[in-house]
Amino acid sequence: MAYEVVIGLEVHAQLLTASKMFCGCGTAFGAAPNSQTCPVCLGMPGVLPVINHKAVEFAVRTGLALHCTIAPLNRFARKHYFYPDLPKGYQTSQYELPICEHGWLEIGQNGTSKRVRIRRAHLEEDAGKNLHAGIAGASHVDLNRAGTPLLEIVTEPDMGSPDEAVAYLKALRDILVYLEVCDGNMEEGSLRCEPNLSLRPVGSKELGTKVELKNINSFKFVKAAMEYEIKRQAKVLNEGGKIAQETRLWDTEKGETAVMRSKEEAHDYRYFTDPDLVPLRITTEMVEEARKSLPELSADKHKRFMEEYGLSDYDAGVLTADKATATDFEVASQTLVDDGFRKKDIGKELCHWITVDLRGLQNKFNLPKFAGTTSVHSVEKPASQEEVSWVQITHEGVPQLFKMKQRGEISGPIAKSVLEEMFTTGKSAAEIVKAKGLTQVSDEGALEKIIDEVMAKNPQQLAQYRSGKEAVFGFFVGQVMKASGGKANPAKVNELLKKKLAC
Ligand SMILES: [Zn+2]
Repeated sequence: MAYEVVIGLEVHAQLLTASKMFCGCGTAFGAAPNSQTCPVCLGMPGVLPVINHKAVEFAVRTGLALHCTIAPLNRFARKHYFYPDLPKGYQTSQYELPICEHGWLEIGQNGTSKRVRIRRAHLEEDAGKNLHAGIAGASHVDLNRAGTPLLEIVTEPDMGSPDEAVAYLKALRDILVYLEVCDGNMEEGSLRCEPNLSLRPVGSKELGTKVELKNINSFKFVKAAMEYEIKRQAKVLNEGGKIAQETRLWDTEKGETAVMRSKEEAHDYRYFTDPDLVPLRITTEMVEEARKSLPELSADKHKRFMEEYGLSDYDAGVLTADKATATDFEVASQTLVDDGFRKKDIGKELCHWITVDLRGLQNKFNLPKFAGTTSVHSVEKPASQEEVSWVQITHEGVPQLFKMKQRGEISGPIAKSVLEEMFTTGKSAAEIVKAKGLTQVSDEGALEKIIDEVMAKNPQQLAQYRSGKEAVFGFFVGQVMKASGGKANPAKVNELLKKKLAC
């Protein structure tokens, strides 16, 4: 029997607030266990939680970016369950009145784009963490994470393949990172994804029994877990079995899913309104304020880059894949535009500098993957060298170097080597070029002298060229460039070589 898969996603995004959802404790990752706790997030009796305004603001911004309606009246509810990392015995969440509802997110490109409906997004708090590597095999509980604000974003079952689900997840992460409400780091658990998935015979309208997958911390594993689950469920159904409604864990090592628990229903949690928290009212002014502060999102930026800079769909996609790269590109290009360059003239080459050369150096020097645009990162290098600022190089150094190349002061290959030296020394492009005498040679007399020497050294190739084998021209260009130490102006070399070789 042929089946089709129906996928819905629940995503937990950790909000980038400085303090927790209902108390003033810090949320920084990696602090000493239980150092960021207080009576409120430890669940002591008699304490009174207070709603974090910033978290509400972040939820509203995200809801607007996802085309949701923002509920004017919100309530927090208690969701009861027992686990050692949940000291209160319940999680404070939102149940029948979530903050955002009925939105959508577009995935895919023109022609094949599709809207995935967002059912709801609600605010809640995270639980702590159980650590199982204690002394003599003991387990410990770290409650630093308990009470950290989360936004849970739930889709309708609108995705028809693991690829679509991954596309949705990437698009959602893009939005959260662009909005600066979540750092999108799946490895550190700031973005957690739980797909639910069911099979039904092709053509059937009825949904099959769904299975929820947990414990997945990368795009690669999300896809692998779903692919495994589709095969497993198809096998069960083909053998005449029934799919149990359950939650399964993805085992990265074995590459398979295993039962974690049979799926609970909402009524199992005995939800009720949290009597310690006042209803949260969101005013029209607050929503409008948030709407005004929305930044340009990656899909819009992508489109604009193609129009303004004449970039290909692919190039615009690489540039906008993360906000830091897009910002590096725009800041550098703005400096050049201020200097009289036209966006369409510099777009493609500058894009290549940023996405290939600069990112290559970023990898080579092991800079953080999510290099911020406002913070200054230093490069790993011998201790004797000065600290080099990433922002300084990308936002000031790159346009300066690019200009020198565009104006013919240095050649392309020299520009590449100067860029790398800027990284390792922290010196400016002009300083390096001057100190090393790298200025491009455009002087005809000097170039002709080099060409004459190259021609004299290669009589065989000269004869070939003159007998009509024009492909040898490239060989001469290469030899002249090499003889000049990469400093010859390639356009001039071409021009002079054509003249010289012809006579
Ligand atoms: Zn606290």
